[in-house]
Amino acid sequence: MDRSSMNPTARRFFRPELSRRSLLRGVAGSAAASAIAAPGRRAFAQESTPVASPAAAAPYRFELGAFSVTAVSDGAFAFPIPGLDAPLERILFADAPTDELEGVLRESGRGAWLDAPERASETVAITPLVIDTGTNLVLIDTGLGPSAPLPGTGRLLASLEAAGIAAGEIDTVVFTHAHVDHVLGAVDAAGALAFPNARHVMAKGEHDFWTNDERFAQIFPDAAAAESAGGVFLSILPAIQPRLELVDENAAAEFLAGMRYLPTYGHTPGHCSVVVGSGGEHLLITGDAFVHPLHVAHPDWNFSTDTLYAQGDVSRRGLLDLAADEGMLVQAYHVPFPGLGRIAADGDAFRWDTAAPE
Ligand SMILES: [Zn+2]
Repeated sequence: MDRSSMNPTARRFFRPELSRRSLLRGVAGSAAASAIAAPGRRAFAQESTPVASPAAAAPYRFELGAFSVTAVSDGAFAFPIPGLDAPLERILFADAPTDELEGVLRESGRGAWLDAPERASETVAITPLVIDTGTNLVLIDTGLGPSAPLPGTGRLLASLEAAGIAAGEIDTVVFTHAHVDHVLGAVDAAGALAFPNARHVMAKGEHDFWTNDERFAQIFPDAAAAESAGGVFLSILPAIQPRLELVDENAAAEFLAGMRYLPTYGHTPGHCSVVVGSGGEHLLITGDAFVHPLHVAHPDWNFSTDTLYAQGDVSRRGLLDLAADEGMLVQAYHVPFPGLGRIAADGDAFRWDTAAPE
């Protein structure tokens, strides 16, 4: 593993209250992790004005061939958040060249991020999808769920109820990757399965990464960093384990009719997008392959919690190429609700066009 492409900030973001690793290894707090500073960071005011979180959006339903797809919001939060103590533009675009980044921010109407950084804020949606195939009722990612550590989030179950979907009806949960905002909603506040009748599908590569101590240590060489990055998933894994089904994401095989993984490694080492097809129509669910429309316009810019920058760059370009070539409908987990759009080729990069399904 090429450590030069590792990202120190990713190590600090997902800080669990308690985890198997901390229990096993007695890792203390975050002193080591917090000593890691992004190069060139400006002083960041921790006491910056909190931004009110918007209410969860009402469920949004659309047809995809014979499938019915419902975007169900887990809520939204605003960056910056505790634990990501960098200027907003460096949280979102960690490795963007400074001059180019500043120009792009000003051109896109975000000059205030630079001029008044203490007030800079960007809302980040969390939008799982429910796909009714007629045979299966599938939930793609689970949000932060009832034990949500961020105000304004944790609203998935309420959104499902508003959509007329009972948690017990979900028969398949599919994870794009194992970061906390995608997996924690798989358990309720007591730590029991929130979707008890569902098989829980995860890419083998992603599961292997988080559970293979040797590989994990290659990516996160210090124990505190490992603790920060992996604790939440590992802490809920025992609850999921009896219903967990690992899928070989490189087999290009459907794990249920009309649904398969597309490996887009980088954000995490086993991160996968999901391709859904019915009746000749396709939906490309991109998870966190990009988290902001400016990552589409600048596919070589990485989000600060991306784990493997160089691999992410390659995956992102491949994914965006595919979406643009095929004119696919795209759903991105963190762009404004319901996260639907299309990708257009634009010079040697791409453009995100918010779109409603046709
Ligand atoms: Zn995410």
